[in-house]
This record gives sequence, structure tokens and C-alpha cells, in this order.
Amino acid sequence: MRLIFMGPPGAGKGTQAERVKDHFGILHLSTGDILRDEIQKRSSLGLKASTYMDRGRLVPDDILLKMMEQRLQQDDCAKGFLLDGFPRTIPQANGLDIILEKNGSGIDAVVSIKADQEELIKRLVLRGKQAGRNDDTPEVILQRQKVYWKQTAPLLDYYETKGLLIEVNGMGEIQEISNRIIKVLNSIC
Ligand code: AMP
Repeated sequence: MRLIFMGPPGAGKGTQAERVKDHFGILHLSTGDILRDEIQKRSSLGLKASTYMDRGRLVPDDILLKMMEQRLQQDDCAKGFLLDGFPRTIPQANGLDIILEKNGSGIDAVVSIKADQEELIKRLVLRGKQAGRNDDTPEVILQRQKVYWKQTAPLLDYYETKGLLIEVNGMGEIQEISNRIIKVLNSIC
């Protein structure tokens, strides 16, 4: 099973991805987590990425595509994966299609998690206090929301045209939302 989770910052992609990967026994790949690891290691990739991430901007497509091409070639991806936070632009989606075609595979479904704008901001401000992420300050949160609607939301049409898009209501209790996602994935995969 090869899945993509989409949704504006705060929609619960990471939280739900953790639960869904356990249910289906697949790998959870979060590009945000991979980049944060690189920042912690102070690698050259991390140093470059942090200049964009701290301002709530997207790390350039060529960097992400190179990083994900290498990651998706590793053996642990063969049993299936759930991509969280990637692709985030149309060039990334095109690049991902090419990477997967080379392996003779493709995406099975794209889950778009939807939530009210007010709820998104509330969740992110809370996460900023609890997790201490550099990019969960009110200013950067607003910037990340803008980036999502401008650069990432066009992917919804891209995947809808391919017949892969599934929209899920991301409001309510965490367990309730997981159940919705698992139910709809069970019905199609
Ligand atoms: P996330 O943890 O998914 O909210 O990502 C945190 C930050 O990492 C984003 O605001 C971007 O700066 C960067 N990032 C993560 N994934 C990508 C991606 N696919 N393309 C560009 N930048 C990304």
C-alpha cells in the first residue's frame, strides 16, 4: 500500500499517519521529520533546509526530490509507505510519479484531511507550546497556512483528476478520525 496524506498544517497528518501505518503495517515517512533530523545532525542538507523551515517556506523542490528518491529506494519501503508532507508542490508530485514509475509502482490513494481554519490555528499554537517547534510561532503558522493554500492545495486537483483523492473530515476526536480514514482505505485497497 502506497499512500499520501495531505492537509493544511495542523490538520493532524502526522498524528493520523502514525496510527494508520500501525494498522496497515507500512512505513511512515514524514519529510518534516527527516529534515528536522538533518538539522539536528547539522548536516549540510539540514543547514540549508533550516533557513527555509524557520521562515515557514518550502525547501526547494530539487532538494526534496533528491532526498526522497534516495529514501524510497531503501529496502524498508518495499512493503508500502505512507508519505506525510510530501509531495507539497506540483513539480514534487511530477517528480514522485517519475521515481515510482522507475520502480514499476505508483500511488494507491491520497487522503486529504480537512479541518476548520480556526481549529487548525488552535492546534498549532498548542503544539508550539508543547513540542517547542521553531515554526509553530503565530507568525510562521500564518505563513505556512498561506504556503499550503498557494503551493500545495493545487495538488488536490492533480490527484482528483487521477481518481486517487479521498477527502476525510479531520474534525473530532483523534480516534474517531483514525476510524474514518481506516474505514475508507479498507474499502478501496
Ligand atoms: P511539516 O513537519 O510537514 O509541517 O514540515 C515542516 C517544514 O519542513 C515545512 O514548513 C517546510 O519548510 C519543510 N518541508 C517539509 N516537507 C517539505 C516538502 N515536501 N517540500 C518542501 N518543504 C518541506
